[in-house]
Amino acid sequence: MSNDKQDKQFVKEITPQSEDFSRWYLDTIKKADLMSYSPVRGCIVFKPDSYELWENIQRELDRRFKETGHRNAYFPLFIPESFFQKEKEHVEGFNPELPWVTEAGGDKLEERLAIRPTSETMIGHMYAEWINSYRDLPLLINQWANVVRWEKRTMPFLRTSEFLWQEGHTAHEDEADARKETMQILEVYRDFVENYLAIPVIVGQKTPSEKFAGAVDTYSIEAMMRDGKAVQAGTSHYLGTNFAVAFDIKYLDRENQHTYVHTTSWGVSTRLIGALIMVHGDDRGLAMPPKVAPTQVIMIPIGPAKTRDQVIARTDELYAELKAAGVRVRVDDRPDQSPGWKFNEYEMRGIPLRVELGPRDMENGVVVLVSRITGEKRVVQQSDFVAEVQQMLADIHDQMFERAKSFRDENMVVVDTVDEFAAFLEEKRGFATAGWCGSDACEAHVKEVTGATSRNIPFEPLEEKKTCLVCGEPAKHTVVYGRSY
Ligand code: AMP
Repeated sequence: MSNDKQDKQFVKEITPQSEDFSRWYLDTIKKADLMSYSPVRGCIVFKPDSYELWENIQRELDRRFKETGHRNAYFPLFIPESFFQKEKEHVEGFNPELPWVTEAGGDKLEERLAIRPTSETMIGHMYAEWINSYRDLPLLINQWANVVRWEKRTMPFLRTSEFLWQEGHTAHEDEADARKETMQILEVYRDFVENYLAIPVIVGQKTPSEKFAGAVDTYSIEAMMRDGKAVQAGTSHYLGTNFAVAFDIKYLDRENQHTYVHTTSWGVSTRLIGALIMVHGDDRGLAMPPKVAPTQVIMIPIGPAKTRDQVIARTDELYAELKAAGVRVRVDDRPDQSPGWKFNEYEMRGIPLRVELGPRDMENGVVVLVSRITGEKRVVQQSDFVAEVQQMLADIHDQMFERAKSFRDENMVVVDTVDEFAAFLEEKRGFATAGWCGSDACEAHVKEVTGATSRNIPFEPLEEKKTCLVCGEPAKHTVVYGRSY
């Protein structure tokens, strides 16, 4: 069967993005074997390929957190109900999403226990014990954990009832230091998501209606999926003294006065897996950014049976070189599958780089590298193999980022009125930059008319707008709006 024919047969199983993007997403993650649904609503199983993605994300972020002075700890899963009552906005925000344990060991519990949706309360309780003096500050802690939020709408990876994440919780002497931390982490997130996951993001501040329950200010990074919808990829919160007052976290300052600490919290979750699939994938399936791909390179020996052993032996030598250089590489030398079948299979699984070696390449001392994203082929000398592979992986990362950025930029408009935005959404999908007077009513009106919510107030807007897109009054901020997952 020709490659062309195999391609068509294969693609038939994945719904094209242009036909139904959600269907494409669900087809792709099932076919690539990333997850299974669990019997419990909104909960998924992370199969090895998606879990390994998460491990790669974790490893790099963990390195960056430690580099900026944070240490990991672990706090309990169960949180007493009374803890939630202490911070009014926090309880109002999270109450609808909390699952409760009311019975254990056959007995009814005296106090209900929430399964943590986030750990500000538990950690606030502990910080009140741990922090006594300015010498204990700043306290910079991160936790890797699972959390539960009983979501009404769910979507694998992007929004699940139980998800995996990291949550940073820090305490500081004053507002300035806590705000510095909030911004430092936002920059860690931006840099990681752009330079590791190849996803361009819009960095900015959430409007009051979209901020974290209990925060003074919330900042976010926002990404555009290939259907023009938004995903909030990470958040960093300045919590002021809200949790310090609620949990009585005080310290003796340099003037010997009892003073409340200022706290921050920040998190990214397994949602990042969903985001990278929706940003980079295409009708052929997944496309993994090289820096996090569980397998970065797949090597496929080709050619007739009579040269097979020689070709495989040389493939194994080249494999060993890559492995020694720290590249995540696999060889598929199964004789019972055709090279064409394998090419399709690994393209669908999104492996960034394919290496082909055949008898003629052996004679010429070369090897063929093929990019998953562009289809570009490079015939390179075997003597330069490792360097050429590393160069091509780096180039693939850059191309993925540029491709995602061009797509996003092409699907962003600047509008003066909500009608203009609605008309844009009729024809295309994407984000709008617009002025906002600061009133909740105008923000709600945009949602009513367009289904889009404010994503954030970008630090670097496309254009500063002077008037509100709804009421026409002077704008306090320029906001990015988009429909979101
Ligand atoms: P938050 O604590 O609400 O600021 O959320 C912290 C991080 O978790 C953000 O990056 C969110 O995008 C992400 N997140 C929130 N809810 C979910 C969910 N149900 N599933 C997956 N990720 C989530």
